[in-house]
Order: sequence, then structure tokens, then C-alpha cells
Amino acid sequence: MSNSEINEMNLQSCLNDLMDPVFEKSLSSSGFLKETTVGDSGQVHVQIELPVPSYPLESELSELIQNTIQEQFPECQDVNVEYTTDIKGKQSGGRLGLNVKNIIAVGAGKGGVGKSTVAASLAYSLKQFGARVGLVDADVYGPSIPHLVGTSEKPMAQEFQGKDGQTMTRIVPVEANGLKVMSMAFFVEPDQAVIWRGPMLHKAITQFLQDTEWGELDYLIIDMPPGTGDVSLTLSQLLELAGAVIVCSPQQVALLDAVKAVQMFRQVKIPVLGIIENMSGEVFGQGGAQAKGEELEIPFLGEIPMNAEIRIKSDSGNISQLVEDDSEAQAHLLKVAENVAIEIARNLITNPTRPPLEIL
Ligand code: ADP
Repeated sequence: MSNSEINEMNLQSCLNDLMDPVFEKSLSSSGFLKETTVGDSGQVHVQIELPVPSYPLESELSELIQNTIQEQFPECQDVNVEYTTDIKGKQSGGRLGLNVKNIIAVGAGKGGVGKSTVAASLAYSLKQFGARVGLVDADVYGPSIPHLVGTSEKPMAQEFQGKDGQTMTRIVPVEANGLKVMSMAFFVEPDQAVIWRGPMLHKAITQFLQDTEWGELDYLIIDMPPGTGDVSLTLSQLLELAGAVIVCSPQQVALLDAVKAVQMFRQVKIPVLGIIENMSGEVFGQGGAQAKGEELEIPFLGEIPMNAEIRIKSDSGNISQLVEDDSEAQAHLLKVAENVAIEIARNLITNPTRPPLEIL
């Protein structure tokens, strides 16, 4: 290695080809290398800007950067790596006037696998990482999110000034432990079976998303109804989603339903970000979703154990505590959320251009 002078240009070119250990992209092609500066006494400062709110291998990347610089510039003993975050997204709510970077659908092939529990804990985990997050309960046939997040509040209507100066009435989401939440349950009586189909359902979902004042969000999580393609079709026509995550339990029967869910999302052109195994452990087994994911060539986003605390906290409306407090479930839930954000960013880095929007 040459003993060239340390300056910003030389530092940049020395780091450009370095691969980050999570995305396995060079720092120049991923755009992570934001700034390098050299101080008066030769100390080097490197700023890495990450597109995700949580990056699992910061210390590895720092070490890699420090070693690379010190190899090229042996006299340089002081390298400081700083991490900043700029969450990237497709800005997918454009057609509905939403200012949301990433919209994530949470689906399952059938009910009872913990889809709503995972959707709510995913939202709280991303918020825990510092992201701005909203949660939509679009499970029209069994909306359970208000119960899980422990709110009985109703959303309020408020006047807002539009871009053209006109005032319009919009719905303000309910806040539950700092999370913005909207649910179909706010608009129907409890126990009233909602059997919307086709055009009515399409209209209800559209209005529901369009008329809500979400503000600026990094992630909007949508808890989808299990199985059916109706709501997915509507969403794919209205929005360019970051993708869908599929929740399944480890046993074979549930996995077959998960395969159907994957096919359904693929059919309506919503990219599948990956599969999450919930309720893994002694009762239902473990590892089934990972194997199925490999078979379907979709990423495995992690497993959440069958755990009494998850059931107790979610059934008593305290799901936020699962990710805020130290618990057995906490590390699993945060890991899943970290992986979801990484998969979204990976897709953006690999395919920076928008695919054409297809009207089905
Ligand atoms: P779905 O939305 O798929 O119908 P829910 O999220 O409503 O499922 O979960 C169904 C039941 O399973 C709830 O009582 C919930 O508390 C419980 N549950 C979900 N995930 C877990 C888990 N990992 N461990 C224990 N209980 C769970």
C-alpha cells in the first residue's frame, strides 16, 4: 500500500470499494459514505449515513473502515466513525397524498397465526429504533389492533389547510403509546360482522387511507385481512408498497397457507419482503418457515417464540411494553423489525428505479 498524503479525496477513494457487511455493497454504490474529514492534527472523521433505523454490524463496519485507513495511511492512528440515519423509501403514498416513505403490508394465509400481534410489535419496534411509524388495521373481517395497543379512543376529525389553500376535513389517527393508529374497528360497532366485498371494500379502504392525516412517516404498517386478495388488490392499485411480510406458524399446515399468501401477493404485484415464523418452539416446532422461505426464494426475517408474555401483554393492550422492556420476546421482536427494514433498504439499493405501476 502506498504512503500517500491523507486528504479527503484519498480517504474517499480508499473507502469507496469497501463492502459493508450487511448489504454487501461497496460504500460508493450504496451511497453510505457521506463525508470524510481530516482534522488539524491528522485525526480522521468518517460519516456513514445508513438507510435503516437499526444496523446490526456497526462495530464490524467501523473496524473495517479503521483497518482499511490505517493500512493505507499507517501514520493515521485516530479514526472516528460516526453513524447517522436517513431512512430511505419509495415515498409510496403519492397517489393518495400520503407523505410516507415505506408502506409495509403484514399478511398471513390464515387467521390465528399472530399476524396482528406481529404487525403491532413490528410498528412499535421500528418506533423504538427512532423511526416515525403509523399502524393501520385493515383487517376488515376482524379488526383487533385497538385491543392490542390498548386504546378505546375514537379518531377525531380536524380541519386542515391543503396545498391549494383550501380547508379540508381529515381524520387524525389515535395515538397509542406514541404510535399513530387507525383501525376499521373505529368505524364499526364491536361484534358487528363486516362483510364488505369488492367495490364497497375498495371504496372503504381508499377513503380510510386517503382521509387520514398521517403527517410524515418513515413506515406505515398495514395489518391485512388473512387470506383474501381483495384488500391487497386495492392497495396495489393505490400505492406502491415497499412490500409484504408473511407471518406463519412453523407447522406444515400453516406453511401451506403461507405459500398461498406469498402467491397472492405476487399475483397483485406486491413484492414479498420475507417470511416471519411466529409461535415457534416446542408446541408447533421450529424452522419450518425458514425452510419454506428458502424453497420459495424469499428471505427469512426471523422467528418469534411461543411465549406466554406475548399473549398476556398483547391481550391486555400492552403490546408496546414487549419491545420497550427487557423481556425474552424483546430481542426477537426487535431483530425481526431490523430485518424487515434491511430487506426494504436492500431492495431500494438493488433496484433504485420505480417499476411501472400496473393497473389491474
Ligand atoms: P391473527 O391476527 O393471525 O388472527 P393474533 O395476532 O390475533 O392472530 O393472535 C392470536 C392469539 O395468539 C392472540 O391471543 C395472541 O395474543 C396470541 N399470540 C400471538 N403470537 C404469540 C406468540 N408468539 N406467543 C404466544 N401467543 C401469541
